[in-house]
Amino acid sequence: MATIQKLSRDLLKRTSRGTRLFSVQSIKESPIGLNFTFSDTDKEIQQVVKKFTREEITPVAAQYDKTGEFPYEILKKAWSLGIINGTVPEHCGGLGYNVVTSCIIDQELAYGCTGISTAINSSGLSNAPLITAGTKELQKKYLGRMIEEPLVSAFCMTEPGTGSDAAGIKTRAEKKGDEWVINGQKMWITSGGVADWYYVLARTNDDPKASISKAFTGFIVERNTPGVTPGRKEWNMGQRASDTRGITFEDVRVPKENVVGEVGGAYKVIAKAFDYTRILVSAIATGLAERCLDEASKYAIERKTFGLPIYQHQAVAMMLADMAVGVELCRLSWMKGAWEYDQGVRNTYTAAIAKCFAGDMVNKIATDAVQVFGGNGYNSEYPVEKLMRDAKIFQIYEGTSQIQKLIISKSVIDKVKQSN
Ligand SMILES: Cc1cc2nc3c(=O)[nH]c(=O)nc-3n(C[C@H](O)[C@H](O)[C@H](O)COP(=O)(O)OP(=O)(O)OC[C@H]3O[C@@H](n4cnc5c(N)ncnc54)[C@H](O)[C@@H]3O)c2cc1C
Repeated sequence: MATIQKLSRDLLKRTSRGTRLFSVQSIKESPIGLNFTFSDTDKEIQQVVKKFTREEITPVAAQYDKTGEFPYEILKKAWSLGIINGTVPEHCGGLGYNVVTSCIIDQELAYGCTGISTAINSSGLSNAPLITAGTKELQKKYLGRMIEEPLVSAFCMTEPGTGSDAAGIKTRAEKKGDEWVINGQKMWITSGGVADWYYVLARTNDDPKASISKAFTGFIVERNTPGVTPGRKEWNMGQRASDTRGITFEDVRVPKENVVGEVGGAYKVIAKAFDYTRILVSAIATGLAERCLDEASKYAIERKTFGLPIYQHQAVAMMLADMAVGVELCRLSWMKGAWEYDQGVRNTYTAAIAKCFAGDMVNKIATDAVQVFGGNGYNSEYPVEKLMRDAKIFQIYEGTSQIQKLIISKSVIDKVKQSN
């Protein structure tokens, strides 16, 4: 036993981020090295976020969906409880949560409303490159202020002419003395109109033949810098509390200290950030899927046809069973990806699988929830119509389902080629 305990401690030491992934106790008790028990701290965090979601998000979700208003009051409350920006490192005043803990939080918030949870919590994506590659000073300056005030940041990669094909980015940054001057247009930027600062991806290599890994640089741009102009709030199919906009950058001057990572090296940084954020997105999709299952199950108990509650009709019961299978597998897939990331294992493959699977599955589950509700499901007086609209985006942002499948298939082929 002493040896197993020592091994557990050594394993935890080797964990690259934090030590709360699994407690020493729970690893020690696991006879085969796998463990699905959350640490006591994670269990407590989960209960706090569950309560917050039940009291502050779920009751107002429909109202925010109708108005599209940005949920500032909810943001402030979540910030004061410390349940957003949890990944901000401790040297910046943050809690330095690992991915497992972040996923637990995101899944619980998403259960209430993925529009509101995206609005208050999407900074995870823009914070990630800074955490991955920013200097300590840059981290302290921009991540530190998110701990001091209830602020959000935004990630600016997509442009009107290019999304999946990152090599097509046209926004340019040119070095002039001690500054960089940025010109270009971004599109579909979550929190584009409300962010305090942006992580902006721009081309810095004029050679059109330069490889993608040497052509782009990431910059932190403050919202109030002259030349930054957010466009109108886009009225999207779902997640309407989230503020999505285009942003124009016109002769925007940024100090050279605001370069994140190496000049020309942003692509690698972003790829690493996606390994983490795609897992978060799959946890958020899981929260929505779970909500669909719960709403459909409650309705199936209440609604009667042919003298029976509809869950007693086998076709409806099978639909609920399929939904439950989907929820469990979504959960397992983010857990594996998050666990790998926290262990310092390269998880590009499992992150793509988790994102793709949860994105597709939540759409099937939300569609089935509407089906269980029948005509009522198609109406906005009932919750599942919104859930179905909210679900669609999970197949699109953070890399579409098709792009995830390209990543997965490339890994599969590379593996076979290497083994031959
Ligand atoms: C609500 C919302 C919020 C967003 N938030 C952000 C944000 O905060 N920051 C940000 O930078 N971006 C954001 N995006 C942009 C999002 O990441 C892109 O929309 C997405 O990456 C797809 O790019 P696209 O829209 O240009 O589609 P395209 O790349 O034009 O793709 C169109 C279709 O073709 C398919 N396709 C493209 N290339 C291939 C290929 N090689 N093989 C197979 N199929 C392919 C795609 O899967 C898709 O179905 C957001 C988008 C939305 C709608």
